[in-house]
Amino acid sequence: MDWNNLPGSGGGVEDRRGAGGLPGGGIAVGGIGGLIIALIAMFFGIDPSVILGGGGGAVPGQSAPSQSSVPQSDRPPASDESYQFVDKILGSTNQVWGSVFQQAGRTYTPATLVLYSQGTQSGCGAASSAVGPFYCPLDNKVYIDTSFFATMQQRLGGGGDFAYSYVIAHEVGHHVQNELGIADQVERKQRAARSEAEANSYGVRMELQADCFAGVWGNSVQTQASLTQADVQEAVNTAQAIGDDNLQRQSRGRVVPDSFTHGSSEQRVNWFMRGFKSGNPNQCDTFGVPYAQL
Ligand SMILES: [Zn+2]
Repeated sequence: MDWNNLPGSGGGVEDRRGAGGLPGGGIAVGGIGGLIIALIAMFFGIDPSVILGGGGGAVPGQSAPSQSSVPQSDRPPASDESYQFVDKILGSTNQVWGSVFQQAGRTYTPATLVLYSQGTQSGCGAASSAVGPFYCPLDNKVYIDTSFFATMQQRLGGGGDFAYSYVIAHEVGHHVQNELGIADQVERKQRAARSEAEANSYGVRMELQADCFAGVWGNSVQTQASLTQADVQEAVNTAQAIGDDNLQRQSRGRVVPDSFTHGSSEQRVNWFMRGFKSGNPNQCDTFGVPYAQL
């Protein structure tokens, strides 16, 4: 992948690295607490209460990995390169969605991205590296902790620049859902749901759609970013690693499909590839197919 050819975001990245971690004090979780929980759209299947609780617990794999045996292009970007990298991916995703919206006669407000280390404050509460990348619909920002590159490389499918791009494009996919009003509809349906399983099912549909949207973006930069089959495999490996079934098998030793919030490994790979192969956001209607056939 040659991400240097992609357009920059034009100031869309807010660099909060080294800003001193989490500010003190608790997070106000009032009547809209549930709303915030429902809307925080994360990449990893980590409990949103981590954000709302403001905890900054240590996460394994947070320290810098030994990179001696890792090919140059698959290393997590070094600190300055991290900024350049997220700036290019953000710029490119915003450009692609801007033109999709324009063709549909709609206005797209570009997503912005906060790059931070350890912890920071978001419009959805305190964020820490334990949470993983997420999109906050209340301030329209994607939050990425710099340690996530290393975490992915060590624990979540092996990383690689296109794998990291997939993560960012997935979060921008949640911004697109927010812009389209899909996030609001999902939140309403989740509130009206009669069971936790039903509420979770809407979340799964939303996450798989964000995976598909990430694929749509990937399709549109195939030539510009000189994507190879190996790059695509990086994203597939990541999607597989972060499927709910895989994460649950690792953490609980068993799989509970009703509690899925992001979809299985197979579903995540399939929807990403569906977007990637078609390049057509209309192929990403995860709400229009029976749940059992997702
Ligand atoms: Zn997500």
